[in-house]
Parts: sequence; C-alpha cells; structure tokens
Amino acid sequence: MKNFDWIVIGAGLTGSALSYELAKQGLTVLLLEKDPNYENATHYSYGGISYWSGTDDFSIKLCQESREIHHNLSKELGDNTEFRELYLMLTVPVDKNPKIIAEDYQKFYIKPQLLTPKEAVKIEPLLNTDAISGCLQLPQGHINPRKTNAAYQQAFLRLGGTINYEEVTQLLFQNTTFTGIKTTQETYSSGNVVICAGGLSRLLLKNIGVTVNIYFTHSQLILTPKVDINLKNLVMPAILNRLDIEKQSGDSEIKSLWNNTSDEIISDVMEPGAIQFLDGSFCLGQISQIITNPQAKINSNLAETTIREGVGKILPELQNLPGKLHHCLVAFCPDSNFLVGKIDGFQGLHLFSGFTGTLMFAPPLAKRFASWVKEDYQKMPSLSS
Ligand SMILES: Cc1cc2nc3c(=O)[nH]c(=O)nc-3n(C[C@H](O)[C@H](O)[C@H](O)COP(=O)(O)OP(=O)(O)OC[C@H]3O[C@@H](n4cnc5c(N)ncnc54)[C@H](O)[C@@H]3O)c2cc1C
Repeated sequence: MKNFDWIVIGAGLTGSALSYELAKQGLTVLLLEKDPNYENATHYSYGGISYWSGTDDFSIKLCQESREIHHNLSKELGDNTEFRELYLMLTVPVDKNPKIIAEDYQKFYIKPQLLTPKEAVKIEPLLNTDAISGCLQLPQGHINPRKTNAAYQQAFLRLGGTINYEEVTQLLFQNTTFTGIKTTQETYSSGNVVICAGGLSRLLLKNIGVTVNIYFTHSQLILTPKVDINLKNLVMPAILNRLDIEKQSGDSEIKSLWNNTSDEIISDVMEPGAIQFLDGSFCLGQISQIITNPQAKINSNLAETTIREGVGKILPELQNLPGKLHHCLVAFCPDSNFLVGKIDGFQGLHLFSGFTGTLMFAPPLAKRFASWVKEDYQKMPSLSS
C-alpha cells in the first residue's frame, strides 16, 4: 500500500493550490480527482478575483495577500494564468435606486464608484442603458481559472507530487484517527487527508457521520467558443440574490431539508453575468439552484433560455451567441467566507472548502494552511461538527 504525508481529495482550484503549497513544504502529497474532464466549478468559473471585498482586518489582509500572489503567480508557477486587472461592473436594474444599492457596498474596504447608465456605457459599450438605473464600478483581478488550475498542477508535479484520476469511495479510520482512503482502484495510507471536493465535500463528510455547515448550489451557465465581440469588463448584477439563498441554508427550517436528498428545487435565482476570456470565448451565467440531491437532473433547455433572456436584457449582443449549457456544483457555507481547518474529534481529518470568492481566498489560505502544517499545527483553526 502506497503511503503519503498528505492526501488531497479533489483537484479543482482549492485542491490544486493546496497540493502545490503542501508539496512546496517538502511533504509527499497525493492529489486525487474523480473526473479527468474537470466538469467542476473551477472549470466553469468567471475567474474574478474580488480583492475589494474584505470587511474586517483578517479578510482585508487576505485580499491584499491574494492580489500580491495573483500578480506573481504566472512567474512562480512557470505557466501563464492570464492574470489581468479589469473592472467589475455591477448593474442595478431599472426599478431599483442605485444609491440605495450602493449603501450595501460601503462595508467593503474598497468602495465602488457609482455610475449613471451613460457613464457606464462609456466604460462597457455592450451594456443596454434602458435596462439599468446605474452601475457600481470596482477594480478587480481576473484569471483564466482553467489555466490557473493547470498551472498549479504542473508546478505540483514538478515538485514531485502525484495526481491520480480515481474516485475516493471511503475514508479509513482506526477509532477516530485517519489512516487512509479507498478509491475505485486502490487503497492509500496516510496520516492526513484534506477534503477539497467542492460541492461533494458535504457528502464525503456525511458518509463518515460528520456534519459541518457546508452546502452546495447547482449552478448553470453557458460557455461559448471564440466570438468576434468585445466585452471589456466582468459584468454581474449588484444585487446578488445567490448570497441570500445561501444564507437561508443556515436557517433551521432549510437546514433540516439537507438531511434528506431530494430533487425538489428549494430556491432558484438567475443573476445575469458575463465575462470574456483572453481567447475570445465567453462564460454567460448564472443560475443557482438549491437542490439537496447532488445528482439531480437539471432542465437544460429551460436553463439555457433563462440565461440567454436574462443576459440579453443587460447585454443584448450576447443573447444569441453560439454556446452550450453546462452544470456544476458550487460549495458554500452560509455563515463564513470559508471552512478551513482540522475537524474536531478526528485526528488527521481536514477541510478546505466552502469559499465565497474562492479564487481570491484559496491561494493565500493554501499558503497559510501549508505553513500551519509544517511549522505550527496548533495554530490551524478547528471546525466543529
Ligand atoms: C458560473 C460561475 C462563475 C463563478 N465565478 C466566480 C468568480 O468570478 N470568482 C470566484 O472566486 N468564484 C467564482 N465561482 C465559484 C468558484 O468557481 C468555485 O467556488 C471554485 O472554483 C470551487 O473550487 P473547488 O476546488 O472548491 O471545487 P471544484 O472546482 O468543484 O473542484 C472539486 C473537485 O473535487 C472532485 N471530487 C469530488 N468528490 C470527489 C471524490 N469522491 N473523489 C475524487 N474527486 C472528487 C470533483 O470532481 C471536482 O473536480 C463561480 C462559479 C460558477 C459556477
């Protein structure tokens, strides 16, 4: 049986960044991914790095560290993450007062600039001024999430790390001490595991009787091929209803629904947004649905129509672009920005998931996690189940 210092489950951005940082500390690391096609949240992400969004000393510090890391990441990893600075244009619908919506953003350490529709269209000519009463403009970083993920993995492999495409089916314990895992093909032994399985982190924990406050949405979006239209900024709505439905998952009534898996749609939001990558392709989004069954079937035709109509109102030229609907799970945690640390009551069991703003928070926290492991394990936060 092969033995590793650490096993990391899930090779999205969280697992890839963390594997790289652990390997950089000289540890032997096995990264396991069940899906060689990477149909995951990282693959379908817009790629925005919201370093304006810190609200307290710690999150502001992480925002600043993240900005620094992303600026240097291509150089450090030896592959291009396509990092750039652009604007986040947060659209306010015609029936809402932009000044009131802007008040919600005063808690962030970088405040948005409030633009009239006329001012906004000068910065983003594809916007439909009839559909908005204003726009909040924020400076934001942007990466290609697929390339960044691949860059982390290549750097991890160069450090001697191992990536195997196998599904983890069982976590093994002796009493409450983690000893290894079983996959569809092999058994591996290790004293430490970290779950970075995105939307499926909840299920892996549930299977061993651990319930922490981590949930998932079913997200739906359209990816297009390269097209000859130029969108300059990342466009999203200023009112993020997704955050409300995520918060509600912490309410006791909804929390109890998560005890059983069902195909029922508990809540459903559409937030018209769009980003163009440097290769000319677009990601148009995004529907977020709370459905407790991770395998639930999505109504693809309805989702595609809803996204096209929603995006078309704000950015009419994008409505009929060629493209295909995709679906993935996105992990979230209703009462904090992330769940990072060791799980109480178990030795060797860790979680690194549930991020709000994963592309921003995961890189600096992966560095911290790896230095806690190497230098000061006592300092690593504990997560109670
Ligand atoms: C349309 C859209 C736009 C977004 N825009 C942004 C944005 O602008 N900025 C931002 O910060 N975030 C954004 N997000 C969210 C962000 O993309 C995700 O939060 C992030 O990519 C999640 O990374 P992850 O590693 O936690 O999960 P994932 O990328 O989902 O990776 C988890 C991996 O674990 C694997 N796995 C699960 N179970 C097992 C198992 N048993 N064995 C082995 N492997 C397993 C899965 O196959 C998967 O590959 C967006 C998401 C979507 C859908």
